[in-house]
Amino acid sequence: RDLVKTFPGRRSRTGKAGAPIRAVDGVSFDVGAGETLGLVGESGCGKSTTGRMIVRLMDPTSGTVTFDGAEIGGLSQAQLRPHRRHLQMVFQDPYSSLNPRQTVARIISEPLLVQGTGAAEARKRAAELMELVGLIPEHLDRYPHEFSGGQAQRIGIARSLATSPRLVVADEPVSALDVSIQAQVVNLMERLQDELGLAYIFIAHDLSVVKRVCDRVAVMYLGRIVEIGDKHQVYGNPAHPYTKALLSAVPLPDPAAERARERIVLLGDPPSPADPPSGCSFHPRCPKAQDICRTERPLLQIAGTGGREAACHFPEN
Ligand code: SF4
Ligand code: MG
Repeated sequence: RDLVKTFPGRRSRTGKAGAPIRAVDGVSFDVGAGETLGLVGESGCGKSTTGRMIVRLMDPTSGTVTFDGAEIGGLSQAQLRPHRRHLQMVFQDPYSSLNPRQTVARIISEPLLVQGTGAAEARKRAAELMELVGLIPEHLDRYPHEFSGGQAQRIGIARSLATSPRLVVADEPVSALDVSIQAQVVNLMERLQDELGLAYIFIAHDLSVVKRVCDRVAVMYLGRIVEIGDKHQVYGNPAHPYTKALLSAVPLPDPAAERARERIVLLGDPPSPADPPSGCSFHPRCPKAQDICRTERPLLQIAGTGGREAACHFPEN
Protein backbone atom coordinates (compact mmCIF):
# COMPACT_ATOMS: atom_id res chain seq x y z
CA ARG A 1 0.00 0.00 0.00
CA ASP A 2 1.30 3.43 -1.01
CA LEU A 3 4.83 2.16 -1.54
CA VAL A 4 7.36 4.90 -2.10
CA LYS A 5 11.08 4.62 -2.73
CA THR A 6 13.22 7.71 -3.05
CA PHE A 7 16.91 7.81 -3.79
CA PRO A 8 19.14 10.79 -3.04
CA GLY A 9 19.59 13.07 -6.05
CA ARG A 10 22.92 13.27 -7.82
CA ARG A 11 25.22 16.06 -6.75
CA SER A 12 25.98 18.58 -9.42
CA ARG A 13 29.58 19.59 -10.25
CA THR A 14 29.26 22.52 -7.85
CA GLY A 15 28.39 20.06 -5.07
CA LYS A 16 24.75 21.06 -4.85
CA ALA A 17 22.47 18.11 -4.02
CA GLY A 18 19.99 17.31 -6.79
CA ALA A 19 16.29 16.71 -6.20
CA PRO A 20 15.58 13.28 -4.70
CA ILE A 21 14.47 10.68 -7.22
CA ARG A 22 11.10 9.09 -6.55
CA ALA A 23 11.72 5.74 -8.23
CA VAL A 24 8.44 4.38 -6.86
CA ASP A 25 5.81 6.96 -6.13
CA GLY A 26 2.80 5.54 -4.30
CA VAL A 27 2.17 2.04 -5.62
CA SER A 28 -0.65 -0.15 -4.23
CA PHE A 29 -1.87 -3.57 -5.32
CA ASP A 30 -2.87 -6.99 -4.05
CA VAL A 31 -1.77 -10.43 -5.18
CA GLY A 32 -3.93 -13.42 -4.31
CA ALA A 33 -2.69 -16.88 -3.34
CA GLY A 34 -1.75 -18.87 -6.44
CA GLU A 35 -2.22 -15.86 -8.68
CA THR A 36 0.19 -14.23 -11.15
CA LEU A 37 0.33 -10.48 -11.34
CA GLY A 38 2.31 -9.10 -14.27
CA LEU A 39 4.18 -5.84 -13.65
CA VAL A 40 5.10 -4.15 -16.93
CA GLY A 41 6.58 -0.88 -18.16
CA GLU A 42 9.66 0.60 -19.78
CA SER A 43 13.02 0.30 -18.03
CA GLY A 44 13.36 2.77 -15.18
CA CYS A 45 9.62 2.84 -14.41
CA GLY A 46 10.17 1.42 -10.92
CA LYS A 47 8.97 -2.13 -11.45
CA SER A 48 12.14 -3.85 -10.18
CA THR A 49 12.34 -1.50 -7.20
CA THR A 50 8.71 -2.34 -6.37
CA GLY A 51 9.49 -6.08 -6.52
CA ARG A 52 12.54 -5.69 -4.34
CA MET A 53 10.62 -3.79 -1.69
CA ILE A 54 7.96 -6.49 -1.57
CA VAL A 55 10.48 -9.22 -0.78
CA ARG A 56 12.33 -6.70 1.40
CA LEU A 57 15.62 -6.86 -0.47
CA MET A 58 15.17 -3.10 -0.32
CA ASP A 59 13.51 -1.06 2.42
CA PRO A 60 10.53 1.07 1.40
CA THR A 61 10.92 4.80 2.09
CA SER A 62 7.26 4.72 3.12
CA GLY A 63 4.20 2.58 2.64
CA THR A 64 3.29 -0.88 3.89
CA VAL A 65 3.77 -4.45 2.70
CA THR A 66 1.30 -6.91 4.20
CA PHE A 67 1.89 -10.61 3.76
CA ASP A 68 -0.79 -13.01 4.94
CA GLY A 69 -2.11 -10.47 7.43
CA ALA A 70 1.29 -9.49 8.84
CA GLU A 71 2.82 -6.09 8.18
CA ILE A 72 6.39 -6.83 7.01
CA GLY A 73 7.35 -3.55 5.33
CA GLY A 74 8.86 -2.06 8.47
CA LEU A 75 10.34 -5.18 10.13
CA SER A 76 14.06 -5.47 10.78
CA GLN A 77 15.85 -8.29 8.94
CA ALA A 78 15.83 -10.34 12.18
CA GLN A 79 12.09 -9.83 12.67
CA LEU A 80 11.58 -10.67 9.03
CA ARG A 81 13.17 -14.09 9.33
CA PRO A 82 9.99 -16.15 9.97
CA HIS A 83 8.37 -14.55 6.90
CA ARG A 84 11.44 -14.67 4.67
CA ARG A 85 10.93 -18.29 3.60
CA HIS A 86 7.54 -17.45 2.12
CA LEU A 87 8.89 -14.61 -0.07
CA GLN A 88 11.57 -15.33 -2.61
CA MET A 89 13.00 -13.76 -5.74
CA VAL A 90 14.25 -14.89 -9.14
CA PHE A 91 16.61 -12.50 -10.90
CA GLN A 92 17.09 -11.48 -14.50
CA ASP A 93 20.66 -12.57 -15.12
CA PRO A 94 21.12 -16.12 -13.86
CA TYR A 95 24.93 -15.99 -13.99
CA SER A 96 25.42 -12.79 -12.04
CA SER A 97 22.86 -13.86 -9.43
CA LEU A 98 24.64 -17.19 -8.76
CA ASN A 99 27.93 -17.12 -6.88
CA PRO A 100 30.52 -18.48 -9.38
CA ARG A 101 32.67 -19.90 -6.57
CA GLN A 102 29.90 -21.97 -5.01
CA THR A 103 28.65 -25.36 -6.11
CA VAL A 104 25.05 -25.67 -7.18
CA ALA A 105 24.39 -27.74 -4.05
CA ARG A 106 25.59 -24.85 -1.91
CA ILE A 107 23.68 -22.23 -3.92
CA ILE A 108 20.35 -24.05 -3.78
CA SER A 109 20.66 -25.02 -0.11
CA GLU A 110 21.76 -21.55 1.04
CA PRO A 111 18.24 -20.32 1.92
CA LEU A 112 17.67 -23.53 3.92
CA LEU A 113 20.96 -23.26 5.79
CA VAL A 114 20.06 -19.67 6.69
CA GLN A 115 16.78 -20.99 8.10
CA GLY A 116 18.68 -23.51 10.26
CA THR A 117 18.24 -26.71 8.24
CA GLY A 118 21.09 -29.21 8.74
CA ALA A 119 23.68 -29.69 5.96
CA ALA A 120 22.74 -33.27 5.03
CA GLU A 121 19.04 -32.48 4.94
CA ALA A 122 19.66 -29.33 2.87
CA ARG A 123 21.69 -31.28 0.34
CA LYS A 124 18.97 -33.89 -0.01
CA ARG A 125 16.44 -31.13 -0.61
CA ALA A 126 18.77 -29.50 -3.18
CA ALA A 127 18.87 -32.78 -5.12
CA GLU A 128 15.05 -32.96 -5.09
CA LEU A 129 14.85 -29.37 -6.29
CA MET A 130 17.28 -30.09 -9.15
CA GLU A 131 14.94 -32.81 -10.30
CA LEU A 132 11.87 -30.61 -9.84
CA VAL A 133 13.28 -27.95 -12.20
CA GLY A 134 14.39 -30.51 -14.81
CA LEU A 135 18.10 -30.72 -13.99
CA ILE A 136 20.17 -33.79 -13.17
CA PRO A 137 20.61 -34.22 -9.40
CA GLU A 138 24.04 -35.80 -9.97
CA HIS A 139 25.24 -32.37 -11.20
CA LEU A 140 24.92 -30.86 -7.72
CA ASP A 141 28.66 -30.48 -7.28
CA ARG A 142 29.15 -28.53 -10.49
CA TYR A 143 29.63 -24.76 -10.68
CA PRO A 144 27.33 -22.24 -12.39
CA HIS A 145 29.59 -21.74 -15.43
CA GLU A 146 29.19 -25.43 -16.28
CA PHE A 147 25.53 -24.82 -17.12
CA SER A 148 23.86 -23.09 -20.06
CA GLY A 149 21.89 -19.85 -19.50
CA GLY A 150 18.57 -21.68 -19.41
CA GLN A 151 19.94 -24.27 -16.99
CA ALA A 152 21.44 -21.54 -14.81
CA GLN A 153 18.03 -19.87 -14.60
CA ARG A 154 16.56 -23.23 -13.55
CA ILE A 155 19.11 -23.23 -10.73
CA GLY A 156 17.97 -19.73 -9.74
CA ILE A 157 14.38 -20.97 -9.72
CA ALA A 158 15.34 -24.05 -7.67
CA ARG A 159 17.03 -21.78 -5.12
CA SER A 160 13.93 -19.60 -4.91
CA LEU A 161 11.82 -22.69 -4.17
CA ALA A 162 14.10 -24.20 -1.52
CA THR A 163 12.10 -22.84 1.41
CA SER A 164 8.68 -23.66 -0.14
CA PRO A 165 7.71 -20.00 -0.64
CA ARG A 166 4.19 -18.83 -1.32
CA LEU A 167 5.15 -15.78 -3.34
CA VAL A 168 7.98 -15.54 -5.85
CA VAL A 169 8.89 -12.21 -7.36
CA ALA A 170 10.44 -12.95 -10.75
CA ASP A 171 12.26 -9.90 -12.14
CA GLU A 172 12.60 -10.31 -15.92
CA PRO A 173 13.27 -14.04 -15.41
CA VAL A 174 13.55 -14.88 -19.12
CA SER A 175 14.68 -11.67 -20.81
CA ALA A 176 18.40 -12.57 -20.61
CA LEU A 177 17.75 -15.97 -22.26
CA ASP A 178 17.65 -16.98 -25.93
CA VAL A 179 14.15 -16.79 -27.33
CA SER A 180 14.15 -20.56 -27.92
CA ILE A 181 14.89 -21.15 -24.23
CA GLN A 182 12.44 -18.55 -22.90
CA ALA A 183 9.38 -20.71 -23.56
CA GLN A 184 10.90 -23.66 -21.71
CA VAL A 185 11.59 -21.59 -18.62
CA VAL A 186 8.12 -20.01 -18.76
CA ASN A 187 6.59 -23.50 -19.10
CA LEU A 188 8.59 -24.63 -16.09
CA MET A 189 7.41 -21.67 -14.02
CA GLU A 190 3.78 -22.38 -14.97
CA ARG A 191 4.10 -26.06 -14.10
CA LEU A 192 5.70 -25.24 -10.74
CA GLN A 193 2.92 -22.78 -10.00
CA ASP A 194 0.30 -25.47 -10.63
CA GLU A 195 2.14 -28.09 -8.60
CA LEU A 196 3.10 -25.89 -5.68
CA GLY A 197 0.30 -23.32 -5.61
CA LEU A 198 2.74 -20.40 -5.86
CA ALA A 199 1.81 -16.79 -6.42
CA TYR A 200 4.03 -14.85 -8.81
CA ILE A 201 4.76 -11.23 -9.37
CA PHE A 202 6.14 -11.45 -12.88
CA ILE A 203 8.10 -8.34 -13.82
CA ALA A 204 8.85 -7.82 -17.50
CA HIS A 205 9.06 -5.29 -20.30
CA ASP A 206 8.01 -7.99 -22.80
CA LEU A 207 4.23 -7.73 -22.96
CA SER A 208 3.69 -10.97 -24.87
CA VAL A 209 5.41 -13.05 -22.17
CA VAL A 210 3.36 -11.34 -19.47
CA LYS A 211 0.16 -11.85 -21.43
CA ARG A 212 0.81 -15.54 -21.44
CA VAL A 213 1.66 -16.03 -17.78
CA CYS A 214 -0.36 -13.51 -15.82
CA ASP A 215 -3.93 -13.39 -14.51
CA ARG A 216 -3.87 -9.67 -13.83
CA VAL A 217 -1.50 -7.02 -15.06
CA ALA A 218 -0.30 -3.68 -13.70
CA VAL A 219 1.25 -1.14 -16.07
CA MET A 220 3.78 1.24 -14.53
CA TYR A 221 4.96 4.60 -15.78
CA LEU A 222 7.45 6.81 -13.96
CA GLY A 223 7.03 5.15 -10.58
CA ARG A 224 3.25 4.82 -10.63
CA ILE A 225 0.67 2.30 -11.72
CA VAL A 226 -1.30 3.83 -14.59
CA GLU A 227 -3.53 0.83 -15.31
CA ILE A 228 -4.29 -2.39 -13.46
CA GLY A 229 -6.80 -5.12 -14.07
CA ASP A 230 -7.69 -8.49 -15.45
CA LYS A 231 -5.34 -9.33 -18.32
CA HIS A 232 -8.14 -9.87 -20.84
CA GLN A 233 -9.51 -6.40 -20.14
CA VAL A 234 -6.16 -4.63 -20.13
CA TYR A 235 -4.83 -6.37 -23.23
CA GLY A 236 -8.10 -6.60 -25.09
CA ASN A 237 -9.35 -3.12 -24.40
CA PRO A 238 -6.73 -0.88 -22.76
CA ALA A 239 -8.11 2.17 -20.95
CA HIS A 240 -4.92 4.20 -20.52
CA PRO A 241 -3.24 5.83 -23.55
CA TYR A 242 0.15 4.58 -22.35
CA THR A 243 -1.05 0.96 -22.20
CA LYS A 244 -2.54 1.41 -25.66
CA ALA A 245 0.76 2.69 -27.02
CA LEU A 246 2.75 -0.12 -25.40
CA LEU A 247 0.40 -2.75 -26.81
CA SER A 248 0.44 -1.20 -30.26
CA ALA A 249 4.18 -1.89 -30.39
CA VAL A 250 3.81 -5.65 -29.78
CA PRO A 251 4.10 -7.45 -33.14
CA LEU A 252 1.02 -9.47 -34.16
CA PRO A 253 1.52 -13.02 -35.45
CA ASP A 254 -0.94 -12.54 -38.36
CA PRO A 255 0.75 -10.40 -41.08
CA ALA A 256 -2.58 -9.00 -42.37
CA ALA A 257 -3.61 -7.92 -38.90
CA GLU A 258 -0.13 -6.50 -38.41
CA ARG A 259 -0.46 -4.32 -41.56
CA ALA A 260 -3.96 -3.21 -40.69
CA ARG A 261 -3.43 -2.13 -37.13
CA GLU A 262 -2.64 1.33 -35.97
CA ARG A 263 0.72 1.89 -34.33
CA ILE A 264 1.04 4.59 -31.74
CA VAL A 265 4.55 5.96 -31.69
CA LEU A 266 5.44 7.64 -28.43
CA LEU A 267 7.47 10.80 -28.77
CA GLY A 268 10.71 10.99 -26.84
CA ASP A 269 12.04 8.96 -23.95
CA PRO A 270 10.35 8.62 -20.58
CA PRO A 271 11.09 11.76 -18.55
CA SER A 272 13.52 11.60 -15.63
CA PRO A 273 12.00 10.58 -12.28
CA ALA A 274 14.21 13.33 -10.78
CA ASP A 275 12.12 15.92 -12.59
CA PRO A 276 8.70 14.43 -13.33
CA PRO A 277 6.26 16.46 -15.46
CA SER A 278 3.43 18.26 -13.67
CA GLY A 279 -0.09 16.86 -13.61
CA CYS A 280 -0.25 13.56 -15.47
CA SER A 281 3.39 12.53 -15.82
CA PHE A 282 2.57 10.98 -19.21
CA HIS A 283 1.24 14.26 -20.68
CA PRO A 284 4.35 15.29 -22.69
CA ARG A 285 4.10 12.03 -24.67
CA CYS A 286 0.35 11.51 -24.68
CA PRO A 287 -1.58 11.87 -27.96
CA LYS A 288 -4.77 12.67 -26.00
CA ALA A 289 -3.40 15.27 -23.58
CA GLN A 290 -5.61 18.29 -22.75
CA ASP A 291 -4.98 21.34 -20.56
CA ILE A 292 -6.15 19.63 -17.35
CA CYS A 293 -3.54 16.90 -17.91
CA ARG A 294 -0.74 19.43 -17.44
CA THR A 295 -2.02 20.60 -14.07
CA GLU A 296 -3.98 17.82 -12.37
CA ARG A 297 -2.62 14.41 -11.53
CA PRO A 298 -5.13 11.73 -12.44
CA LEU A 299 -5.71 9.10 -9.73
CA LEU A 300 -6.38 5.44 -10.34
CA GLN A 301 -10.08 4.89 -10.68
CA ILE A 302 -12.43 2.28 -12.06
CA ALA A 303 -12.54 2.44 -15.86
CA GLY A 304 -15.23 0.35 -17.54
CA THR A 305 -16.55 -2.88 -16.09
CA GLY A 306 -14.81 -5.72 -14.28
CA GLY A 307 -12.86 -3.70 -11.74
CA ARG A 308 -10.06 -2.51 -14.02
CA GLU A 309 -8.57 0.81 -12.91
CA ALA A 310 -6.78 3.49 -14.91
CA ALA A 311 -5.12 6.78 -13.94
CA CYS A 312 -6.28 9.04 -16.77
CA HIS A 313 -8.64 12.02 -17.08
CA PHE A 314 -9.85 10.68 -20.43
CA PRO A 315 -9.75 6.87 -20.30
CA GLU A 316 -10.93 4.90 -23.33
CA ASN A 317 -14.55 3.75 -22.97
FE1 SF4 B 1 -3.07 11.39 -21.52
FE2 SF4 B 1 -4.32 13.20 -20.02
FE3 SF4 B 1 -4.87 10.64 -19.72
FE4 SF4 B 1 -2.54 11.60 -18.92
S1 SF4 B 1 -4.53 12.12 -18.09
S2 SF4 B 1 -2.85 9.74 -20.03
S3 SF4 B 1 -2.13 13.11 -20.49
S4 SF4 B 1 -5.26 11.87 -21.54
MG1 MG C 1 14.30 -3.86 -14.05
